[in-house]
Amino acid sequence: MNPQQNVNLADYSTMGLGGAAAYLLEIHERGDIQPAVQWAQERQLPILMIGGGSNIIWRDEGFPGLVLVNKIKRFEMQAEDEANVYLTVGAGEEWDSVVERSVQAGLTGIEALSLIPGTAGATPVQNVGAYGQDISQTLVTIEAYDTQAGQLVTIPAGDCAFGYRTSRFKTTDRHRFLISSITLHLTRGNPGPPFYRAVQSYFDEHDIKKYSPAGLREAVLAIRNAKLPDPAVVHNTGSFFANPIVDEGVVAQLRDRFPAMPAWETDDPHKRKIPAAWLLDTAGLKGVKDSQTGMATWPTQPLVLVNERAASTADLLAFKQKIITLVQKKFGITLEQEPELLP
Ligand code: NAP
Repeated sequence: MNPQQNVNLADYSTMGLGGAAAYLLEIHERGDIQPAVQWAQERQLPILMIGGGSNIIWRDEGFPGLVLVNKIKRFEMQAEDEANVYLTVGAGEEWDSVVERSVQAGLTGIEALSLIPGTAGATPVQNVGAYGQDISQTLVTIEAYDTQAGQLVTIPAGDCAFGYRTSRFKTTDRHRFLISSITLHLTRGNPGPPFYRAVQSYFDEHDIKKYSPAGLREAVLAIRNAKLPDPAVVHNTGSFFANPIVDEGVVAQLRDRFPAMPAWETDDPHKRKIPAAWLLDTAGLKGVKDSQTGMATWPTQPLVLVNERAASTADLLAFKQKIITLVQKKFGITLEQEPELLP
């Protein structure tokens, strides 16, 4: 065990902000987790495991413990029969590369989750989803180191408390499990309609009538590339606010003032999901550059906050608060931050 000391955490968040970690260690095999946890426990240091840093905002104070960076690689396909394939991937695999390889193998189930930044192990935490697919639909099991039990455990999908962009790993058992791999159930076959509007429009524009995993991936790549900044080029952590879920009465009231406001159904028949991007856009927050904080909203997707030249996380949080206050004033809705503020 030889962790690095006093490591700048801004390099471990695609937002490029934050203080220092007392210690940081890359984990390359699941067997490395237990000794690392023991090392930290012996020194009474807190532990955090991260993946690609694409959904993390580090506080300026930094982290006084041990940060474990998950680099565990694995990609194993096991065919049950001609149609059903179980894919086990290491938590440290880059997610989009997992999607790409599964599509190349002709499998359907995760192709709509193309180009989502981050690692495979991060996907169950917030039940990552896009364009109608989410990880809970294909996830079979998670292998993780349980810091309470002090051992590797296998957690079936049914025990993950998955909900809309949430799970037990984000709520009741936040930071308890250090995920080492995930196993997905994918199938040989093709995705079918109905597709999300943006996807269907792409198919129509390109006169695509035969749908395939590769075709759906291509559509999602085109849609995302056209409207989202690449975190490798522009500091950002994707959508910064979750889509608010409100009572249907709130939607009815708001529609008096905003007849064109979109609202989608949810699992609860009395609740509706309002696209946060629409709220920001309508509040005039698209492509805004804030000279005070050095932060901005992305011109083609205002939900993405970008760090142009912010000096600290405090700047980012000040910009976030400006947005929340403006949206609250205009719509009476309080937006919630989506990326995790750590520690
Ligand atoms: P968008 O396509 O502009 O859609 C905005 C909202 O409308 C989303 O909440 C989406 O619901 C909903 N929506 C659109 N078409 C729908 C349909 N046919 N049926 C039901 N609901 C529909 O969204 P965007 O902001 O550019 O994001 C694109 C996709 O990536 C969305 O699916 C979004 O949720 C997803 N995304 C996920 C994460 C994450 O997992 N943390 C982060 C950013 C974006 P859904 O949210 O249910 O899809």
